[in-house]
Amino acid sequence: VDPVYENYVRKVRNCIFSVVYPIPFKSRICLVAVSKDVLEDILDLDLSVSKTNNFIQLVSGEKIVSGSIPLAHRYGGHQFGTWADQLGDGRAHLIGIYTNRYGEKWELQLKGSRKTPYSRNGDGRAVLRSSVREFLASEALHYLGIPTSRALSLVVSDDDVWRDNFYNGNIQKERGAVVLRIAKSWFRIGSLEILAHYGELDLLRKLLNFVIQEHFPSVDMKDPNRYLDFFSNVVSGTAHLIASWMSVGFAHGVCNTDNFSLLSITIDYGPFGFMEAYDPNFVPNTSDDKRRYKIGNQANAGMFNLNKLLQVLNPLLDPSQKQLATQILVGYSILYYTRFKELFKAKLGLVGEKEGDDYLVAFLLHLMEETKADFTVTFRELSEITQSQLKDFNIPQEFWALKTLSRQELFSDWVTLYLLRLKSNMNDSDSRRRKRMTSVNPRYVLKNWMAESAVQKAEMNDFSEVHLLQQVLQRPFQKQSAAEKAGYSSPTPLWAKGLKVSCSS
Ligand code: AMP
Ligand code: MG
Ligand code: MG
Repeated sequence: VDPVYENYVRKVRNCIFSVVYPIPFKSRICLVAVSKDVLEDILDLDLSVSKTNNFIQLVSGEKIVSGSIPLAHRYGGHQFGTWADQLGDGRAHLIGIYTNRYGEKWELQLKGSRKTPYSRNGDGRAVLRSSVREFLASEALHYLGIPTSRALSLVVSDDDVWRDNFYNGNIQKERGAVVLRIAKSWFRIGSLEILAHYGELDLLRKLLNFVIQEHFPSVDMKDPNRYLDFFSNVVSGTAHLIASWMSVGFAHGVCNTDNFSLLSITIDYGPFGFMEAYDPNFVPNTSDDKRRYKIGNQANAGMFNLNKLLQVLNPLLDPSQKQLATQILVGYSILYYTRFKELFKAKLGLVGEKEGDDYLVAFLLHLMEETKADFTVTFRELSEITQSQLKDFNIPQEFWALKTLSRQELFSDWVTLYLLRLKSNMNDSDSRRRKRMTSVNPRYVLKNWMAESAVQKAEMNDFSEVHLLQQVLQRPFQKQSAAEKAGYSSPTPLWAKGLKVSCSS
């Protein structure tokens, strides 16, 4: 196939992919970061490969592996609750599928590699700022044990890219960057929605069968209920994913159906945020003025998206299957709360099932909300201190906004209940409890200010903090001296108090 550079933005019908080649940068490029684990453990390559010219040409979109036909994926979606029609990979190219030594297939995708038929009004580019954030955050979530796409590499160029500055409303010059990201599959709820919307039912069935065959080994392709089975898998996967986001205070920011993976992995990192002061109303995305995707609404957003998936599947189901599918969807909230409680009980080191456990969790969260205590720091503090230190437990004052005595007294009531509950942990010791808790309550998460600090340096071609964060976030549960020195478990510095992130990326 001749490289398809000539392209134009258009409505595409009756297909799942369009052939389109990435467009190389015009200016000098620089390899900012590589994930050693992705390279070695997933792609069977030695780290030394990343020093080669071939590598940088491949991960920047300058060269395509011979035999590969780069593709942009056609999808649609509901954005902020309304049907947005055709969206698609507007700045991403699928450049190949790699089968590794374990027989796993990984789809390699460039992001920021220029226009496709799906670019709409966009320029097909991504800037350094958002690419650093995606690179670091996707790797960070992986090491927190949360299903996610991974990032192999980050390349920056000197090509100018113009973006809104949302502090002053001006347009500012930034630099183009490309992330090579990988996932077992990039298909989203929106991948199916576009086919259903345009009545392309044969293609819809084909894609569904493909996704099930490739990625849902537990679903029997010969089973007439396979779509139901598939749906039930996505429902529980989504419930579990969102519960795990909540357990580390992660707010995705743009929970549209086009950003929700059929494999229930975290994809499409944009204006995400890790919550600092505990607040169910935390909204990471400045542009989300209706607060639709606030952290405490993510589970509902998941339900909304699954309902859209159900509507896609409905034409393929018979009446009794439709009824069952509705029941499966109703089960979503139970799945979500069950997982949520499991995770939060583990965060408190509780073993077994006791009456009052849910109350203990809810009570603590309530106190944290009242005192605006830092979510990550509070749970980590509880994990690190001994039971005797717990008796005088107070969330370190610098981490809460309201420092009244009555609030401290409230905490002491909670601590009394908590200590009592810990006594009922069977076959437990305090060191075992602390070990359990420090392995689920991270000491380090990628707070906005950390990403911002790394971005500011990267803009000046100093990538040291990108590398430091990369290293630190690989072991988020382990205290690291370099991280402490950088202040990564300290309160947010004053300069970063008013930080904003938006969809501009
Ligand atoms: P997002 O919410 O960032 O995942 O993006 C939603 C849609 O906008 C997707 O179809 C993206 O491919 C597209 N998009 C975002 N930014 C750009 C851009 N700079 N150029 C082209 N398409 C874009
Ligand atoms: Mg997206
Ligand atoms: Mg995007």
